[in-house]
Amino acid sequence: MQKGSIRVQTENIFPIIKKFLYSEHDIFIRELVSNAVDATQKLKTLSSIGEAKGELGDLSITISLDSAARTVTISDKGIGMTAEEVDKYLNQVAFSGAEEFLNKYKGQNENNIIGHFGLGFYSAFMVSDKVTVVTKSFRDAPAVRWECDGSPEFTLEEAEKTDRGTDIILHINDESNEFLEADRIKSVLNRFCHFLPVPIFFEGEQI
Ligand code: ADP
Ligand code: MG
Repeated sequence: MQKGSIRVQTENIFPIIKKFLYSEHDIFIRELVSNAVDATQKLKTLSSIGEAKGELGDLSITISLDSAARTVTISDKGIGMTAEEVDKYLNQVAFSGAEEFLNKYKGQNENNIIGHFGLGFYSAFMVSDKVTVVTKSFRDAPAVRWECDGSPEFTLEEAEKTDRGTDIILHINDESNEFLEADRIKSVLNRFCHFLPVPIFFEGEQI
């Protein structure tokens, strides 16, 4: 008898995630805002047990739109990621940092963590030609920029970001022009992003 472990060919799984994982493309907003909320909640948990030092300051999440540059950016002031964490969490499809965090901080973590399967981030590729992540960990580590066009090759390099947290920059593809319209983004935010434990802002207004 032979026993083994099923392997995954990323070149083939990426198109499936992009096309079939979610039937509605606007879900990417819910997924990325959820990740921003999770990152913020994790920071609050680590602060409450003394693992994150100092004042946390403003923790609001901002969604911004630059129609001319064709980008939508989701920014948080949560835990951020080191280069090692980017490699672990973003370069491994279906590895859930949310799940890992919940297991590690069982009991201490009364804050809700939304993530689960380690797939939500990739919903960004449903609407993007390219996704750029610029992130700085709450730990003393250099900021990094990760970029991927969904090919699935990525680049990872040091970046200039001085404040803690993560910017997810979506370079919107030609089929997804609807998400370059403020009203469209706003209606999705109004549908999915109420009652979250962190304030969410779009165009200077709180959702
Ligand atoms: P899940 O949320 O189910 O764990 P995702 O695919 O949505 O899976 O995200 C994968 C992992 O990437 C997260 O668990 C988290 O560790 C990391 N991550 C994603 N977005 C952020 C962010 N804005 N800040 C910090 N870490 C993030
Ligand atoms: Mg998630």
